[in-house]
Amino acid sequence: MPNAPDLPLIKPSDAKSWSLCARRVWLDNKGDFDLQTIDDPFEQLVIELGLAHEQAILERLSGDMDVHTASSTEDTARLMADRVPAIYQAQLLNEAEGIIGLPDFLLLGESGQYQAADAKLSLSEEKKEIQVQLGIYRRLLGTGLPAIVFLGDGEQALIGDEANAVANQFATEMRELLSSEDEPLVRYSHSKCRACPYYAHCKPPFEQKGELSLLYGIQGRAAIGLESAGIDTISKLADTHASAIPDIPYLKGDDKKNRAVLQAKSYLSNEVFRLKPVELPEGHWIHFDIEDNPLTGNGEKHVYLWGFLVPDFSDNSADEDFEYVWTDRDDEDEQGWLQFLKQVEGYKGQYPDLILAHYSSHERSTICAYAKRYVMEDHPTVVYLLGDESPLFDLQKPVLESLVLPLQGYGLKDICKHRDLVNFQWQDEESGSQWSVVQFNRFLAEPDPEIKARLKGEILGYNRDDVTATRRLEEWLRANFMS
Ligand code: SF4
Repeated sequence: MPNAPDLPLIKPSDAKSWSLCARRVWLDNKGDFDLQTIDDPFEQLVIELGLAHEQAILERLSGDMDVHTASSTEDTARLMADRVPAIYQAQLLNEAEGIIGLPDFLLLGESGQYQAADAKLSLSEEKKEIQVQLGIYRRLLGTGLPAIVFLGDGEQALIGDEANAVANQFATEMRELLSSEDEPLVRYSHSKCRACPYYAHCKPPFEQKGELSLLYGIQGRAAIGLESAGIDTISKLADTHASAIPDIPYLKGDDKKNRAVLQAKSYLSNEVFRLKPVELPEGHWIHFDIEDNPLTGNGEKHVYLWGFLVPDFSDNSADEDFEYVWTDRDDEDEQGWLQFLKQVEGYKGQYPDLILAHYSSHERSTICAYAKRYVMEDHPTVVYLLGDESPLFDLQKPVLESLVLPLQGYGLKDICKHRDLVNFQWQDEESGSQWSVVQFNRFLAEPDPEIKARLKGEILGYNRDDVTATRRLEEWLRANFMS
């Protein structure tokens, strides 16, 4: 279907935003916001690394062939007509369809046709936005040749006809979205909205309306089901008896319904509900948390810090309670892992009833991944860590099983920072796991030893706060919810 001439052009680079939220991509194109300056340091770091990756590909290609940089759609068409071997920063416009695509490269194949190619930091070409972008480039080129993805780990992948369906869906939905003058109606999604630049714009109307998906555990389809049962606001849900709620998708069974009603009550009153007593294992507790860098050159994440808060917890702010394994570079990754295992062996020898407490499944799944990476699944310490008698204990489990809290997310910081809950504050307000990745990449790039030492100190301080937070959470649970 042709595009109306006065509509914004459809850009494949909108694919990520489109895959996240229809309103987000509409606001990107038709909203009156100035989001030109990206002030999220993690986003900025990803952009910088993406550009560096693109430059590395450009240099590599330039060593093998004559690469011309295009300056416009007309220039791209001229270079293509001249059959130059490679075009950098190509611009492909289909006016009739209203689509403009900016592939990083067009490469002239042996068949005499051009292939689109993009440099992506991703390790997989299967991401929806990559399939859409490269699929649209193929459509703009009108070629049956696959498009090329230069992946972040140095591998090269091809995208062919399998991407046509999602690329066509993108073009159709974008045309429809851009034709509308009204913000699309969407639901609140805590995981997507809290990281979205339009959060401050969208959240107040959701709150005013009492949107059900503001509640932890109520996803879009459950909200639709509740609405069709006449329960269309948080207040109405809070006033409903769980037994009066029919079975609806993602909200089946008495426990889930009861939890949903209590979550609504908690949202409105700030009240904490205990579903059953919290159970915590007895033993010597060591609190454990890792920091990893997913933005490595080899595509495998590097755990640069394995941090522990060890007994006797006499002063949680003192450095002597905090122990850690640190490695500077990803080529020291295995060394760090082996040191971590040694550290665990030491704790095991010291405390036969060791409890290695962490928050969420990340630490356990990382240990599994590392055991696999270094083919050490049968190593006695790995078997000890992951076997039936594992000392690992995920503190998030008793929280989710026993408590309903006035929160939209049950992350460690959500619970610990809340003044009416654990009320533990991190020394650096800005810190977080993405902050730590940014600081670590600054540390890697920093030539000045003094600044480097300061950056390392800040990352260690953040990790120490994380393990101290899990300790405070443990204390809070013991003091309030055990019996
Ligand atoms: S805040 Fe949420 S609803 Fe609003 S645009 Fe972003 S993701 Fe979409």
